[in-house]
Amino acid sequence: TETPQRGFFGHPRALANLFGTEMWERFSFYGMQAILAFYLYYSVTEGGLGLPKATAAGIVGAYGGLVYLASVGGAWVADRLLGAERTVFFGGVFIMCGHIALALIPGLAGVAIGLVLVIIGTGGLKSNVSALVGTLYAKDDDRRDAGFSLFYMGINLGAMFGPIVTGWLQTSVSFHLGFGAAAVGMAAGLVQYVLGRRNLGPDARVVPNPLTGAARVRALVIIAAGVVAVALLVIFGAITPENLPTVVTWVVLAAAIAYFAVILSSRKITSVERGRVFAFIPLFVISFGFWALFQQQFTVLPIFADTRVDLDALGFPIPPAVFNSVEPAFVIVLAPLFAYLWTRLGERQPSTTVKFSLGVIGMGVAFLLMVAVSATGSGPAVNPLLLALILVVFAMAEMCLSPVGLSVSTKLAPKAFGAQMVALFFLSIALGSSVAGELAAYYSADNEPGYFGILGGAAIVLGLVLLGLRPVLRRFMHGVH
Ligand code: GLN
Repeated sequence: TETPQRGFFGHPRALANLFGTEMWERFSFYGMQAILAFYLYYSVTEGGLGLPKATAAGIVGAYGGLVYLASVGGAWVADRLLGAERTVFFGGVFIMCGHIALALIPGLAGVAIGLVLVIIGTGGLKSNVSALVGTLYAKDDDRRDAGFSLFYMGINLGAMFGPIVTGWLQTSVSFHLGFGAAAVGMAAGLVQYVLGRRNLGPDARVVPNPLTGAARVRALVIIAAGVVAVALLVIFGAITPENLPTVVTWVVLAAAIAYFAVILSSRKITSVERGRVFAFIPLFVISFGFWALFQQQFTVLPIFADTRVDLDALGFPIPPAVFNSVEPAFVIVLAPLFAYLWTRLGERQPSTTVKFSLGVIGMGVAFLLMVAVSATGSGPAVNPLLLALILVVFAMAEMCLSPVGLSVSTKLAPKAFGAQMVALFFLSIALGSSVAGELAAYYSADNEPGYFGILGGAAIVLGLVLLGLRPVLRRFMHGVH
């Protein structure tokens, strides 16, 4: 057999390529998302579209939900039509075109075209680029986890720099230049992907379960019918900017229930496997609760940063989008510490169930801290460093839940449904995102203690309930920890 490649920090050279592609993709994704809510609700004279704040935040949440719903579609396209390597490429092209549309086309038309393209593209790129990282290592290669940790650094480097660049361009020049920067970032990622593509092994190009002949035609007809149906619902006013996050929430919930039902009722799974899928249900609920709070970084917290934080407190004007850089910056710092902690604890480290509980409880604590911080006065009175400090708690909560989420979904998956369990985990993120958009309608500057207090308290209760269920879950998990 061939000697393992060690061209990038002791890892296969292709990891550098995927690292760079995903870093630039996240730069464009989080850069655009950081200024999106402001673009939607700023007045026309400020360069925005003048929507009500709740509608603006709702659209951002629905967009986030659709991105993760589309990842499920993207995994299917890679699995049955194109293979991961080509799906990532076309995904990147769609994303770049989406940001170009936002940069060039004015009004809601630009938003609609741009966001739909970014949703389709991210659906194609995001889950498959991670899957490609997996193809770089043999099953027993002990560099595997370290490779994913490096890749996670790339994600967060991009997520940190994107909002700084777009936020600065937005406040000093215009929203459209900010969106343009996102397009340039994705272009850089694509160039780098194309140049390094040949380093990916043959596994990357395989279509694992190809659709052939009639089945392929049938699938394309179903997709086309779906597109036409959605277009008609929009044209006849059944789907509006106001109800979009609610519609997305119900669609995702229906998809998740259908997935669970198909898996649980399948004759291809054993009773042990069925128990494990049951054990995944509370984890799905916790994950949903976590993301419903966490994703408010892009819905409610931008409104808070823009209207309640003293953006001149440090002696220079802070673009409000820059708060979106704080959490990824702390993930970069904390991820190695958490990795060290878990390795150090070894067998004594908390189980996945406990980590999930800690994640959602951490978000609850962050929201209760928001209650304290918001008590510092009315108007733009809050010290920006206090908001940054709360985002550190967000990062610690993410470290408990997000990295283990994917791995526990694969571990609890029945043999016949591996990819579907990962899809279910993505659907919990999708559901959390759209609910984070819906919740913005309940937020206002004068009910902050109630808003942050109720959500924070609910998250903590959810976490404690899961902790209480631990013995039951352990039984159903049959040896998976
Ligand atoms: N911020 C990380 C990312 O964009 C984790 C959130 C997620 O998508 N799971 O990948």
